[in-house]
Amino acid sequence: MPAAHLIGKRVDVLDKGWIELQDLMGDDLAIVNAARASFLGESKGDERDHKLLIYLMQHHHTTPFEQVEFKFRVRAPVMTWWQWVRHRTWSFNAQSGRYVTFEENDFYVPETWRKQSASNKQASFGELTLEEGQPLTQALEQHYQRCYDLYRQALAAGVAREQARVFLPGFAVYYTWVCKVDAHNLLHFLTLRMSPDAQYEIRAYARAIYRHFFKPALPWTAEAAEQYLFAPGTQLD
Ligand SMILES: Cc1cc2nc3c(=O)[nH]c(=O)nc-3n(C[C@H](O)[C@H](O)[C@H](O)COP(=O)(O)OP(=O)(O)OC[C@H]3O[C@@H](n4cnc5c(N)ncnc54)[C@H](O)[C@@H]3O)c2cc1C
Repeated sequence: MPAAHLIGKRVDVLDKGWIELQDLMGDDLAIVNAARASFLGESKGDERDHKLLIYLMQHHHTTPFEQVEFKFRVRAPVMTWWQWVRHRTWSFNAQSGRYVTFEENDFYVPETWRKQSASNKQASFGELTLEEGQPLTQALEQHYQRCYDLYRQALAAGVAREQARVFLPGFAVYYTWVCKVDAHNLLHFLTLRMSPDAQYEIRAYARAIYRHFFKPALPWTAEAAEQYLFAPGTQLD
């Protein structure tokens, strides 16, 4: 049976973000039964079903995993949105700043400041100390306040929402969207975005999906993915 108790569950991510499971179709058995459709068969009991599912993952027999669907509602900074929507196998619908006025506190404030990696041009490595980071955090909060005040000033002057948003700090604005994906393509996303070379912020969402929704919903598939799919060093919780 699909893990219905997970539907509606919301998990906090980053300082003001969250991810919620809105709907779920299918379970490990749906994957096994889809594979057995080849010979018009169905479940053969837990032990043989589990063995078949592990075999499917090991041998890249991927289409049965597409029989399970997850639908999420996500609130995350725009920089995470832009990385997420590169995954073309998901379906998305997002909030629009043309319809919705942003709120004063709708901006991401990182908990720590990561240092630029010396060996990987797009990665970070290590962190500033709290003392080193404190003035930056203060400056960021002042910057957000200034941006937001200008945004409100433009709205008050009668400027349209679609244009007034140019005053907002683009990468940091929290954004809300709904998205749907099947388990095969979600595994692809998780493999890339839980990997240590993915940006910390999207990794936090990917790990939340895996830990709070994917693994409880599809425990055999998660076991197989940990064995055959995820890169060594992937943090799973
Ligand atoms: C660590 C990291 C760094 C990145 N850095 C950059 C960067 O610097 N610049 C940048 O632009 N992007 C970057 N990306 C994004 C990356 O190039 C991919 O766009 C993103 O990871 C989505 O992967 P995907 O295309 O495999 O996934 P999906 O779009 O979900 O597609 C899944 C699979 O379906 C197939 N597929 C889907 N659409 C097509 C198609 N039109 N033609 C052929 N096959 C298709 C492919 O096999 C693909 O792997 C980065 C991603 C990661 C994880």
